[in-house]
Amino acid sequence: MVEVAVIGGGLVGASLAYALVRQGARVAVIDRLDVGQATAAGAGILPPLDHFSGVPALLPLLRAARRYYPELIAHLAEDGETETGYAVVGALQVATSEAEAEQLGPLRRECEERRAAGFLHIGELSELDGRGARRFFPLLGEAVRAALYASGAARVDGRRLLSALRRAFERRGGRWAQGSAEVVLEGGRAVGVRTDASVWPADVVVVAGGAWSGALARHLGLNVPVRPQRGQLVHLELAEHDTSSWPSVVDFGTHYLLGFGPHRIVAGATREDAAGYGAVSTAGGVAGVLGQAMWLAPALARAQLLETRVGLRPVCSDGMPLLGATAQVPNLFFGTGHAGYGLEVGPYSGALLAELILARTPGIDVTPFAPARFGSV
Ligand SMILES: Cc1cc2nc3c(=O)[nH]c(=O)nc-3n(C[C@H](O)[C@H](O)[C@H](O)COP(=O)(O)OP(=O)(O)OC[C@H]3O[C@@H](n4cnc5c(N)ncnc54)[C@H](O)[C@@H]3O)c2cc1C
Repeated sequence: MVEVAVIGGGLVGASLAYALVRQGARVAVIDRLDVGQATAAGAGILPPLDHFSGVPALLPLLRAARRYYPELIAHLAEDGETETGYAVVGALQVATSEAEAEQLGPLRRECEERRAAGFLHIGELSELDGRGARRFFPLLGEAVRAALYASGAARVDGRRLLSALRRAFERRGGRWAQGSAEVVLEGGRAVGVRTDASVWPADVVVVAGGAWSGALARHLGLNVPVRPQRGQLVHLELAEHDTSSWPSVVDFGTHYLLGFGPHRIVAGATREDAAGYGAVSTAGGVAGVLGQAMWLAPALARAQLLETRVGLRPVCSDGMPLLGATAQVPNLFFGTGHAGYGLEVGPYSGALLAELILARTPGIDVTPFAPARFGSV
């Protein structure tokens, strides 16, 4: 039975670990629980609309990832875990100017083409005026002039999904420990993972350390070009509205609104490339997020401010994740670089990595995501 040690217990590491134990592997996850863990901060939008037209190589991964989600939710339910925060709620792409409104038609056609190409999660599409958009998301104000609605969009609560994965993993015999881990190499192979407290021997080691993966790699003399991008968002509550099945609202910039039950609204998010590992909320960041949220939905001004969250998105230099074994150390794998789409794609990336580790044929061609595309990895 193969023995695997996974460094990092965010959504990617936990999804991989769960996929492996379901297939009979012995697995240990070692997680440092860093402040700034992306999974704990992530908003949770699983969008219908193609974010990735600029990176065509991601499209097969995205399509397969969305098909996989209901399968994962069913696996978790079999293991007694039904609290994941996953729900199909639809999404609105909103236009706040004439120029943006003109983009909705082409966007709709692009979505229709994608749907015909197998992106079934897009669902039904309809173009709406401002009033039509407000029927779906009543807080939207006059700034929203038009919208494209897609019925198949979903959302997930990253924290709940992660907890469900961890519980199901442990119930199937997986071991989960807290600590700061490093890879132990001997004779050009990974032989395990070391923390201050113990050594975990392993046949295969996986680095799923999110934005911290580059630092782990550097210790080994490998150059993994993953850096942190800070994201700040705020959680609000409006007690008079049941927000549990409201669609997500996405504008043409980087802002969005998203409902969770019973009365919670998440407003996001900043994208800060120069903030390093400082996972703190800032006055400017929160002001910007709240300002845009209230521009889209003025009624949010009377919402209760529940909390701010901040996380570090693991961004790879070419915009694609790293999934697979390194060329330099064949039994050392990486699973990272999911930037702002890791809640959407991370679970499937974990399943793909499990297939690679167990020497099975992966569900899609993973060569575009091989760490070896960066020569020194
Ligand atoms: C504000 C914000 C909004 C987002 N919104 C969305 C969204 O709407 N939709 C979407 O799909 N995605 C979204 N994302 C992106 C998504 O959250 C991430 O891509 C995803 O969570 C990354 O998961 P991960 O497991 O790779 O990393 P993480 O969740 O960061 O987990 C990495 C873990 O590795 C641990 N670790 C690192 N180094 C070590 C070490 N040496 N030893 C032990 N443990 C270690 C860390 O402590 C951490 O717990 C958002 C992210 C942010 C920040």
